[in-house]
Amino acid sequence: MIYETLRSAIQERRPDIDLAEVDRAYEFAKNAHAGQKRYSGEEYIVHPVEAARILLDLDPDLAAIQACLMHDVSEDTPITVAQIEKEFGEDVASLVSAMEKMAVIKVKKEDQQTENWKKMFLAMAKDIRVVFIKLSDRLHNMRTLQFVPKEKQERIARETLFVHAAIASRLGIYQVKSELEDLCFKYLCPDQYEELRLAVAKFSKKSDLSMEFATSQIEQMLVREGVVVQEVSGRKKHLWSIYQKMSKKQAMDISEIYDLFAVRVILPDSYKDGKEQVSHLYSTLGIIHNNFIPLQDRFKDYIAVAKPNGYRSLHTTVLGLGAGLYEAPTEIQIRTASMHAEAELGVASHWAYKEKVKSGAQSLKLQEAFHEIRSLLQREPDIEGAVREWIEKFQQMAFADRKKVQTMLLEKGIDQNHLDNIRKARSTGPLVLAGNYEKHRVWLKGLAEDIKKGSEIDIFPDKIFVLSPKGDVIELSRGATPIDFAYLIHSDVGNHCNGAKVNGKGVPLDYELKNGEIVDIVTRSNAKPGKYWLSIAKTSNARAKIKNWFHKQEFESNVRLGRDMLNRELELMHKPKLDEKFIVMKNYAGKERTLDDRIDILEAIGLGTVSASHVAKTIFAVEEAHEEEKEVYFVPELTGKVLITGEDNLPLIFSACCKPKPPHGIIGYVTRGHTISIHRQNCRELHGLDGDRFISAVWA
Ligand code: MN
Repeated sequence: MIYETLRSAIQERRPDIDLAEVDRAYEFAKNAHAGQKRYSGEEYIVHPVEAARILLDLDPDLAAIQACLMHDVSEDTPITVAQIEKEFGEDVASLVSAMEKMAVIKVKKEDQQTENWKKMFLAMAKDIRVVFIKLSDRLHNMRTLQFVPKEKQERIARETLFVHAAIASRLGIYQVKSELEDLCFKYLCPDQYEELRLAVAKFSKKSDLSMEFATSQIEQMLVREGVVVQEVSGRKKHLWSIYQKMSKKQAMDISEIYDLFAVRVILPDSYKDGKEQVSHLYSTLGIIHNNFIPLQDRFKDYIAVAKPNGYRSLHTTVLGLGAGLYEAPTEIQIRTASMHAEAELGVASHWAYKEKVKSGAQSLKLQEAFHEIRSLLQREPDIEGAVREWIEKFQQMAFADRKKVQTMLLEKGIDQNHLDNIRKARSTGPLVLAGNYEKHRVWLKGLAEDIKKGSEIDIFPDKIFVLSPKGDVIELSRGATPIDFAYLIHSDVGNHCNGAKVNGKGVPLDYELKNGEIVDIVTRSNAKPGKYWLSIAKTSNARAKIKNWFHKQEFESNVRLGRDMLNRELELMHKPKLDEKFIVMKNYAGKERTLDDRIDILEAIGLGTVSASHVAKTIFAVEEAHEEEKEVYFVPELTGKVLITGEDNLPLIFSACCKPKPPHGIIGYVTRGHTISIHRQNCRELHGLDGDRFISAVWA
């Protein structure tokens, strides 16, 4: 039974993991999925178990294994994340819940969305374990893709190639990346895949023999030269990378691609004074170049300059390894054992949480000790090698060397208690200082920078990624609310936003959106923005659009007011009311006016910058002169005149607070002493005054 295989693999490779706990998660998932079948006709539980087997290669902790076994439970069965939390705790539940959230995203086609998808994938998976579980899940789904209905296969393969394989590559998990790519290739270009597969197969007997021959040639030669070798092995290129290489070179035949395989020379790790040594790699390279003819321009030093995903190795291509069997040049890769582990598993080769396997109070103390040591190593990276050796390979160290490291740590301010706790923890099993966490962080950071500028711990500290109900990924500033989302979709959606749902549940408009949430805006045709939205909206886009809306509203209401005032005035003059296009103003004050000009005049009336009666009289060229005296007040110290509408015969004063002068916009205020004081329209003194006492005033 497949679960037995997983169980014994865990037992063998991870004796630190409590199998009873794994069993419990398995039973839970098995019961939950009872009766469900995969497309293949197998029991559903086979899928999470297979995924967990893949995950095991990535060296997971117990919580990750449990979460992987239960990763489809909350999505596909009535069991909820809350129930999982009750049974298995918060850590496991949060992993399952993250997996569930990521399941809703579907990449539709090869478009810009895939880039966003990748970003969201990483932003959501703040916990790297989620990425690993997701990759394991996807790899098993790809392995069984032939059972999935044909019409779904291509979409899934495309999504996998552009998102999952790309992420595995970026994280340096080549094992997963290569297999995913070949599987995608098979479903996306079935003809080319089959053609190449046959060609490689035809060639493979010869190339297998050559690979074996070349490998043993190198191994024997190195042993003869006295090099201590850990392993020499051959590695075949996977189909997708051959295919890409052929396309790039526009090669017609696979015989034009000479590095169908590479020979890998793995040397032991070496440390001196606590520093990682690489000189033995270069001297081995020298020995190889002495024995075989290197091709010029084919030497690559990924140790001096690592690849962006952290890959380190020396690459060279030599002639003469085939001895008649295989005349093509052969690539040789030289690296240390830990570089090799990193190359195969990438980030997974140093899980950040390895030390979590210790449990209880002892674990807390140990974590504290490691925390202290890690921050010391951050300040003094030079001593990392020695400290790491002291923690991880204590048994192999000479007594004097142990003593030396301990004394150094004490001198550098590490507490004796911390050293004691490390000693105690060591007695219960091997220790790993997850200090490479730093390196892993740097990779993630590089990855973020690759996509966009990233930052320290959080990959996208200022961004969140949410989904529209259709599954489009929408990028927003952190802190964004449904209002921001609505305006990003469309101004109309924003302006008619009447409510919002997140993951199907109603939320207030000031709700802070989180990564991966599905946001649905409820609109209503007569809904409109409120002023308070300006304080809720976090993006400048939404704020600008809200302000715009209000400006427009004010403009429209001023125009409406101006039109009504002018109509009243016209009525008094027994003239017809304004028509829709305000034709009577077509030639206003001796100038031709466009419709917009006419609307502007109405706005000015509404704003009070010009009086309706003045406009009416101008339209009908009525002599205003003698009537003017009644309405216009001359103010000795000013050159301008002020026109007041609505109030007659009240004395006029110019307020001292804001000293209005033309062309300031002005307003009148009828004081309790029955004078009209004229202020600037924006005068601060006006705040809080009785609104009924304001009257409009304009410079005449
Ligand atoms: Mn699954």
